[in-house]
Amino acid sequence: MIELKSPAELDAMRAAGLVVADALAAVREHARVGVSLLELDEVAAGVIRGAGAGSSFLGYRPSFAATPFPGFICASVNEVIVHGIPTGYRLRDGDLLGVDCGAHLDGWHGDSAISFVVGRADPADLALIATAERALAAGIAQAVPGARMGDVSAAIGRIGRAAGYGMPADFGGHGIGRAMHESPGVPNEGRPGRGVTLRAGMAIAIEPMFHAGGRDAYFEAEDGWSLVTVDGSRAAHVEHSVAITEDGPRVLTAPRLPAASTAP
Ligand code: MG
Ligand code: MG
Repeated sequence: MIELKSPAELDAMRAAGLVVADALAAVREHARVGVSLLELDEVAAGVIRGAGAGSSFLGYRPSFAATPFPGFICASVNEVIVHGIPTGYRLRDGDLLGVDCGAHLDGWHGDSAISFVVGRADPADLALIATAERALAAGIAQAVPGARMGDVSAAIGRIGRAAGYGMPADFGGHGIGRAMHESPGVPNEGRPGRGVTLRAGMAIAIEPMFHAGGRDAYFEAEDGWSLVTVDGSRAAHVEHSVAITEDGPRVLTAPRLPAASTAP
């Protein structure tokens, strides 16, 4: 069943999404060479707790997981695609870091992810990230009433494939609301004009994940969570929670706007 949210409920989801956006901004601010993933997890925890919110990730245990997730963020370095566990690993110059964060506030969840390079970046990594961001924007642009889910999926997949990237077929986006993962699924590849019809009040998490090496295959690491590219190539993952509204896509996890300038 797909739950439709009222405008007031979407406002409440935006409040949760803003906590996630603030946590991701703080993590990005603190991420530099020598900083550990656990330290970044503490930064996110501070923002989430400080806002009176809870983590959607901590203790989360979907059917595929052998153990509950131990962090406030997923921290996925280089060849880790998604679901990286925050460990004592210290970031090195040129690492490609994906940070995924989820929080719930007043019973509503937000879920968003960013990818960026720490220190000196390989241009290939910047291109990978920029392409994932472009695919996310293209998917969001299709998230309007009357469109089909396949329109969103196709917009994402065609950008990744045109760039020659791979993607993990079994992983993609999802509905979001009172639970972090709801119906419908939001695949990262699809056919335009097919799938669920999008209606105002639906909220979905759209999350492209691309592998630089071009192969789709991945494996699960021994930690029981991290998904890793089989060819060892780097991966980028970006995500926003988005509401479908009559006024167009509403990005519920969009970063806070900078304070208006008071200059004359
Ligand atoms: Mg996420
Ligand atoms: Mg998600």
